[in-house]
Amino acid sequence: REKIYMKTPLVEMDGDEMTRIIWHFIKEILIGPYVDLKTAYYDLGLKHRDETNDQVTIDAAMATKKYGVAVKCATITPNAQRVEEYHLKQMWKSPNGTIRAILDGTVFRTPIIVNNIRPFVKSWAKSISIARHAYGDIYKNVEMRIPGAGKAELVFTGENGEVVRETVFDFQGPGVIMGMHNIDKSIESFARSCFNFALDQKKDLWFGTKDTISKTYDHRFKDIFQEIFDKEYQDRFAARKISYFYTLIDDVVARVVRSEGGMIWACKNYDGDVMSDMLASAFGSLAMMTSVLVSPDGYFEYEAAHGTVTRHYYQHLAGKETSTNSMATLFAWSGALKKRGELDGISALADFAEKLEKAALQTIEEGVMTKDLAQLAETADKKVVHTEDFLREVDLRLQAML
Ligand code: NAD
Repeated sequence: REKIYMKTPLVEMDGDEMTRIIWHFIKEILIGPYVDLKTAYYDLGLKHRDETNDQVTIDAAMATKKYGVAVKCATITPNAQRVEEYHLKQMWKSPNGTIRAILDGTVFRTPIIVNNIRPFVKSWAKSISIARHAYGDIYKNVEMRIPGAGKAELVFTGENGEVVRETVFDFQGPGVIMGMHNIDKSIESFARSCFNFALDQKKDLWFGTKDTISKTYDHRFKDIFQEIFDKEYQDRFAARKISYFYTLIDDVVARVVRSEGGMIWACKNYDGDVMSDMLASAFGSLAMMTSVLVSPDGYFEYEAAHGTVTRHYYQHLAGKETSTNSMATLFAWSGALKKRGELDGISALADFAEKLEKAALQTIEEGVMTKDLAQLAETADKKVVHTEDFLREVDLRLQAML
């Protein structure tokens, strides 16, 4: 068989622990035999990050700007214990944080749906993608305990010396106070990433804030989204037959739970923090959650939402068999290949990626799965398989499709 041709390389960011093992199995078993794989390879494994003083992470992000599409393996974010374990020169920052700061993107998380794992919400027939604004609000707040009676004020001193003040509260006794902020520029790029992703996925976009209570702060989010939509996206949404829908955050929550799914849900920072965990557990499993970073300039970086599955890696190192779920990492690869195929106009590549996903879904739907899913799946005869065997089972079905 002739291998599928690639024009532009994918930016490949290798990672750590069990997901690094899975990474190489996926390439060897499911991609290498079919695709003439071209990648710009960056080893973001912790050892190599340390050797390069984390320059490799920056290089990988810059390469993503150059080529447009990246696929990333899960990586260790070092803590004190990791500094010792890997004899690190420094406690390097989270690679995802570094990459996001360079690409200025928004992360969209989407569960992979199979017909034998039912979401806890019965009406959900399609997946729901969630986008979390990753800047500001409560995560960059300033807070204080108020010891006793006194006046708390909000004071802004402009560059020209102009002062604006507002009383927050006249305290009669002890209490607490908090100041938070956001910036138009960050909200604007969040909005553009969301609109771009909705166009890319051909799905409706929902957004909600508490603008009835927060008439200036949350209202600014609502206004920025609406202005950008009206000016830059309205026509393209209409052409793709998708819509942008804004309502109060409490109304969004109620509607999402009663919906059949299928939308992209944009959330402010805190709402996204809470709701993405709710969604992940309601859909069943972190191991089935994919993640893509979409930049306002149209770069895409695909990955699994989960971490490096450390416990399984130590089992693997001890020579024991593992049963680690590779679906989210596999879908990161297929997502990136599909996007590359679309951008380069290579339909065979996009087609292959679709089939790869179908083969993987079919494998689980036929009852062949890793241990983590066996507890969740409603299939009479389940065949629980090891990490590598699962990928070989996917390959059998992929071969039949090709
Ligand atoms: P984790 O996602 O690796 O594991 C959390 C739990 O879910 C564990 O019980 C694990 O067994 C289970 N799990 C997750 N993915 C699974 C899979 N594919 N198959 C079977 N079970 C799975 O998160 P953690 O344990 O908090 O972190 C481990 C390491 O991963 C840390 O060093 C952390 O810094 C890193 N991490 C990286 C990313 C990323 O690169 N995007 C995200 C989160 C954590």
